[in-house]
Amino acid sequence: MAVVGSESNPLRVAIIGSGPAGFYTVSNFMKMKDLHVEMDMYDRLPTPYGLVRAGVAPDHQKDKSVIRAYEKSAAYAGFRFFGNVEYGSDIHLDDLKKHYHQVIFTTGSPFDRNLGIAGEDLNGSHSATEFVAWYNGHPDFADRKFDLSQENVVVVGMGNVAMDVARILCKTHEELAVTDMADHALKVLKQSKVKNVYILGRRGPAQAAFTPPEIKEMGEFAEADVNILAAEAKLDGASQTMLDESQDRNTLKNVTFVQDYAVRVNQHKPRQLHIRFLVSPVELIGEAGDVQAVKMIKNELYTDDRGSLKARATATEETIPAGLVFRSVGYRGKPLPDVPFNESWGTISNDQGRVVDANGSAVSGMYTAGWIKRGPSGVIGTNKTCAQETVGLMAEDLAQDGHFQPVDTDPAAIEALVRSRQPDLVSYSDWKKVDAAELAAGEASNRPRVKVSNVDEMLELIRG
Ligand code: NAP
Repeated sequence: MAVVGSESNPLRVAIIGSGPAGFYTVSNFMKMKDLHVEMDMYDRLPTPYGLVRAGVAPDHQKDKSVIRAYEKSAAYAGFRFFGNVEYGSDIHLDDLKKHYHQVIFTTGSPFDRNLGIAGEDLNGSHSATEFVAWYNGHPDFADRKFDLSQENVVVVGMGNVAMDVARILCKTHEELAVTDMADHALKVLKQSKVKNVYILGRRGPAQAAFTPPEIKEMGEFAEADVNILAAEAKLDGASQTMLDESQDRNTLKNVTFVQDYAVRVNQHKPRQLHIRFLVSPVELIGEAGDVQAVKMIKNELYTDDRGSLKARATATEETIPAGLVFRSVGYRGKPLPDVPFNESWGTISNDQGRVVDANGSAVSGMYTAGWIKRGPSGVIGTNKTCAQETVGLMAEDLAQDGHFQPVDTDPAAIEALVRSRQPDLVSYSDWKKVDAAELAAGEASNRPRVKVSNVDEMLELIRG
């Protein structure tokens, strides 16, 4: 048998998950001109692109331009998309071992983290993850209900997801109607009665996880003012010293925006965004099962053993009324059947992308990239270098026989197996039919696209 990766015996790779890390796996393999690779990419949804489709904010269309590069990867001769096929139910690790040399898991971090405070289960308390997936038309979340008749909304956390959620709540219907936000969400947001949006950060402006373009946008709403308390915008001594020493450009920019907003004159617009620092929710207060208010405690910063500035509760309490609360304190990976998982990190157990067992030994043939490898951090492009690292190891391991021993490498064989389990398998050309329909509907209404957010509807479009 010719060596694996040669023209007569191509390396066969299964990619589980079609988000950025999955597509950067393809493009990184494509760069290895001496290696002959065939790649099948699986996704449980009929649509590709993961968070680029279902996570990136609809008013941030530029961030979705990476799709053009993914389309080029999808055009690679050895690439196939197997959409609407779920790893662990339609296809299992044992099946993959019979048909591929290697498998790479790029399934992202679909779960959200909890706050772990009383009242978190009240009606009106949601994860930002759900809200984001809902307004982006993710089929699993299309029927979620969010009570936007509430006047006061709290968003807990100060990362870019919290910024996205607050921004969507502060924008007008006119600002949102030109985006590819799901129609069901546009309709509900058009009726929104929201007046006050509070973003709660547990640390100070110099520790905020948002990035400068996102905090800049908070000062540019047509119909919402941004409010920051002067006392909270001012850096404490330790933060100021750290910033003076590091001169970190993003932090300097963030702090400048925050301090500018703190002295801004309020224009009395219909909506008010309040960005609060050094506060932690300690309880969601409810009545008759519905959230009514957020009890929070004022924090101070202290330097921990490792020299990081951490939040510590003071005795000062404050309660703000809120009928809707979104926690946006980070994502978490979902364990996959037959794949070692690190519960405390919420990632697949791995060493630089090689899946490892409980003893830390590499599991032959199994790899990972993206958020499920390193945790939910970084921008879309971060997944490029992340996938590059893993793909490099996959190629390196080939030389050491680091792969499964498939019994049937005929691409038609695995496709037949998958179709026998999931007759509604969605190929890349099938997806392009949905894509074309969405784009045409978008063109007709002067929007980037009008999303289909129902799987049956997608399948009907595919069947023609
Ligand atoms: P993130 O950037 O990790 O931010 C999480 C936030 O939650 C932090 O402010 C963190 O505060 C806070 N937090 C954590 N536990 C908390 C608790 N128990 N109580 C109160 N606050 C708590 O996560 P993310 O916003 O989910 O974003 C995930 C990744 O996607 C990030 O890398 C982000 O930049 C990226 N993203 C990028 C864009 C964009 O480029 N436009 C858009 C969306 C997401 P501490 O810092 O104190 O821990």
